[in-house]
Amino acid sequence: MSLFANALESIQIGVEDLLKNDNRRVLSAVRNVHAGVLLLCKEKLRRLSPDDEILLAQRFEPQPNDQGEVSIEAVGRNTVGVDDIKKRFKAFGVSLDWKRLDAMTDIRNHMEHSYYKGSRERARQAVADALLVIRQLLVEALQEDPLSALGSECWTALLENADLFEAELQTCRATLDKIDWETEAATRATADFVCPSCHSALIRQRDPANTSQHKVALFCSACGEDAELGPVLSLAFDETFGAEGHIAPKDGGEPPITTCPECSEETYVVEEGRCAACDFALPDDAACAVCGNGLNAEEYYEHDGLCSYHAHIASKDD
Ligand SMILES: [Zn+2]
Ligand SMILES: [Zn+2]
Ligand SMILES: [Zn+2]
Repeated sequence: MSLFANALESIQIGVEDLLKNDNRRVLSAVRNVHAGVLLLCKEKLRRLSPDDEILLAQRFEPQPNDQGEVSIEAVGRNTVGVDDIKKRFKAFGVSLDWKRLDAMTDIRNHMEHSYYKGSRERARQAVADALLVIRQLLVEALQEDPLSALGSECWTALLENADLFEAELQTCRATLDKIDWETEAATRATADFVCPSCHSALIRQRDPANTSQHKVALFCSACGEDAELGPVLSLAFDETFGAEGHIAPKDGGEPPITTCPECSEETYVVEEGRCAACDFALPDDAACAVCGNGLNAEEYYEHDGLCSYHAHIASKDD
């Protein structure tokens, strides 16, 4: 069977698994669809290769050939892995929504390593992510028509699954949109909320009418677990401010989010001078009692109103 046919078949089998009302098959649904997506990526690399499928090899090296010239030969039998697929797509100018693919891989890994009641919901999300990646691969990268490639039964099921998941997601998000967050940062991050137990995006408020951050009680529609605000915000901030967090320290600046000295979550919003998850806030006039320099949250909380330097001096005097 050709690589392309293999890829399509893997996706079709995965979708059949998902459609069966059998919880034992949801993991295999995600595995098969995920494998199919990676095979579609490999098909693109195969088509980009001159005539020897060289781009499918994990390693290749220059070798002298019969004509006394240099040719590039595959080394070993291993085929290209995800990291190299990403690099090769980039080098050849093939764009793909890697964030979606990574999200899907993340769900697959989570499902492999634990059993959740809500795994059908997790499978739904993974396959909804897959739809967008599959469409991009078939239409843009491979110039194939998804409907005729996958067959109408499979393609329709993929579309319907994505609609169902999206509807459930919007219902969950609507309960979060009601909340009057104490920080701008939390308002910005709600789109990145995921369940700390199973990483599903189907996080919602127990009381959909509640507007107060202090009364927020969250739970996950996918696994049914309750979720504390601190860990949820901490995971979301990582996503929302992740890139900025990596840039800021390099430029000598403070990262936008640091550890809250009060609740110990990664939820202290430096710019707003307060924690997004608990009541801790840094007073505007927080300054060292000796030198008058402004204090950061940790100094204010830990050192009794002294900057790190003067706290250090004071501890030596004792
Ligand atoms: Zn969950
Ligand atoms: Zn806090
Ligand atoms: Zn000082």
